Amino acid sequence: MTLSNNLPGCPAQHDTDALPVNIAQALVRQWISPLVATERVPLREALGRVLASPIDSPLAVPAHDNSAMDGFAFSSAALQAASAASTSSVPELELAVVGRALAGHPWRGDVGSMQCVRITTGAWLPDACDTVIPHEQVEQTPHAIRFSAAAVRGGANCRRAGEDLQAGQIALTAGRIVRAADLGLLASLGISTVNVRRRLRVAFFSTGDELRSPGEPLDPGCVYDSNRHTLFALLQRMNCDTLDLGIVRDEPAALDAALRTAVAHADVVLTSGGVSAGEADFTQTLLQTRGEIAFRGLALRPGRPLTFGRIHPDKPAESPADGQLDTTRATLFFGLPGNPVAVMVTFALIVRDALLALAGAQPQPVTLLGARSRVLLRKRAGRTEYPRGIASRGSDGQWQVAPTGSQSSGALNTMSEANCFIVLSHEQTDVSPGEMVDIMLFDGLF
Ligand code: AMP
Ligand code: MG
Repeated sequence: MTLSNNLPGCPAQHDTDALPVNIAQALVRQWISPLVATERVPLREALGRVLASPIDSPLAVPAHDNSAMDGFAFSSAALQAASAASTSSVPELELAVVGRALAGHPWRGDVGSMQCVRITTGAWLPDACDTVIPHEQVEQTPHAIRFSAAAVRGGANCRRAGEDLQAGQIALTAGRIVRAADLGLLASLGISTVNVRRRLRVAFFSTGDELRSPGEPLDPGCVYDSNRHTLFALLQRMNCDTLDLGIVRDEPAALDAALRTAVAHADVVLTSGGVSAGEADFTQTLLQTRGEIAFRGLALRPGRPLTFGRIHPDKPAESPADGQLDTTRATLFFGLPGNPVAVMVTFALIVRDALLALAGAQPQPVTLLGARSRVLLRKRAGRTEYPRGIASRGSDGQWQVAPTGSQSSGALNTMSEANCFIVLSHEQTDVSPGEMVDIMLFDGLF
């Protein structure tokens, strides 16, 4: 089959029976323009959401010069005066303690050139002071401290106003996904509400007459539907609103009805199963009547039978009840394979990036590490393979990896045991034991 020919910058046709993964990724990106709707949410609800606009710091951080240590604050002029007055190569200083500056309780009085104030970490430096000596480096008498001038340099142990961020400087860029440190940073700037992109609405369903839901009896020839649960987990992790449309029978009318519901309520629809020979035909017919197919089939294992396209809305003028959905937009369609591991691989390689782009997020590259293969890995050039593996650090401190047991694309148990994919690129051939390969850690991915 051929690709739709409306892909800017792309050749009009590909042999999509073996579309390389990197080309598929590029095609998907070309079909996606980020959603524009935004909403203002309370600070904590911004966790995991995509920033709609950059955050300019409303304050300097720190707001005022302050102490980085518990100790005594004084003017560095005292160090110079002591050096000038002393004949010793290491002059001693004695400073009178005239007050206390505590965090939240600045010292408002004067501090003379041979005076100091006791100060705690984070407390504002009194105006006349620019240096702090930690308390363990001084000898204390009831009203004074004594220390060697060599113990501290002028300006030491102070944090300067604006050292971390200047007022007006961009603290976080648009498209950033808010993580724990960002939430803390926003709070440190006094920001209590945040402008974020709206969540994606993703509908999903499983297709197959053989599928049963957990809790139901398992009829002869049937299997339990695991894909909907895996997809639910993957989508939750990406902070999407999900619409679970259940199990759909292998019948054109049922499929059509499910797709109509998905299109009316979601930005994206993910189906699993029904994309291999035979069953695929009516999915394809439906998509071609109501939208376009970008590609069908990847040079990828597991995950070959992936279909990507879009479905146009039924009646653009009629908005459904759920507010922000742009009903004039096409709904993106990902027809994932039925095999449960292939669902996870295609999600990781294709769907994840697509959802991030649609959500207006900056790309979130997954961590790749180099690891020594512990075994021979059979691989033929011409397709990308993602065997699942267990990576650990060897006694030499280097990462090493071996595939988990069965690499059948139906075997979820070995997927569950694994902690990474072994990345065998399109052109890669057999990997000998001891050879280096890339691994993609599941942490940060699933
Ligand atoms: P299909 O792509 O529909 O030909 O399915 C390929 C294989 O995946 C078959 O063995 C199906 O039974 C299995 N499969 C399809 N959908 C699911 C599902 N939702 N959960 C578990 N296995 C499935
Ligand atoms: Mg099927």
